[in-house]
Amino acid sequence: MSKVCAVFGGSRGIGKAVSQLLAKKGHRVIVVARNLEAAQSTATSLGEDHLALSCDVSKEHDVQETFEKIQSSCGNINYLVNAAGLNRDGLLLRTKTEDMVTLLHTNLLGAMLTCKSALRGMLHNQGGAIVNIGSVVGLKGNAGQSVYSASKAGLEGFTRSLAKEVAARNIRVNLVAPGFIHTDMTAGMNVEELSRNIPLGRFGEPQEVAQAVLFLLESPYVTGQVLVVDGGLQLAM
Ligand code: NAP
Repeated sequence: MSKVCAVFGGSRGIGKAVSQLLAKKGHRVIVVARNLEAAQSTATSLGEDHLALSCDVSKEHDVQETFEKIQSSCGNINYLVNAAGLNRDGLLLRTKTEDMVTLLHTNLLGAMLTCKSALRGMLHNQGGAIVNIGSVVGLKGNAGQSVYSASKAGLEGFTRSLAKEVAARNIRVNLVAPGFIHTDMTAGMNVEELSRNIPLGRFGEPQEVAQAVLFLLESPYVTGQVLVVDGGLQLAM
């Protein structure tokens, strides 16, 4: 049966690949990002009956308004994917407090706010599925990414705890932890050098992460899990 799916960070990169896969499966997709034009362009490319909305996930008011719009045009959502995220890499000593706050508010608080809003409809529907996008850096840590790592590690704890909180209501919550994936976020990186540390010898593609997201959304007996999609990078970290 066709599902109503909200993909935060759905305009580009991993979120866009998730939006494309969900649309291909016949689901109705709401593509959400700050840049409305980019979200619209992605939603249009998915075909008819999909929606684009502008929202900054770090702002509670924005998130609430977005869910009101979703509710009035599509009703309760069945699937929520939190792929909105930022990185501001740098050594802790050189990181400004405002950058720490922006990172935590976007990567961690943002997912908490969207989950909170989505749960109301899911409780009403007596079921639903949520996938948050973490990172192997949240599991293993990385020099120069302490704040990013903290935001993603926080997301892991949040995912497991929320999974326990809502399991009895038939709502599942899981985390996908990607390694290096070809997107705007990794565009400036030295692919050749970094690929040497990846057992599979290459960066991943957004579509390869989307497959894992779809698996977790559709698997009725899986909740509170972390699925690592990293070409084996974690084994070498
Ligand atoms: P990306 O290509 O830079 O896309 C990021 C998406 O998030 C865009 O749609 C962006 O749209 C949206 N976004 C950013 N800040 C937002 C905000 N405050 N409110 C709403 N939307 C926002 O990044 P990506 O590589 O696909 O990353 C997606 C997720 O995967 C992130 O959480 C990232 O940390 C995680 N991840 C990525 C990699 C990787 O190697 N690429 C590895 C591990 C984990 P706007 O800019 O228009 O808002």
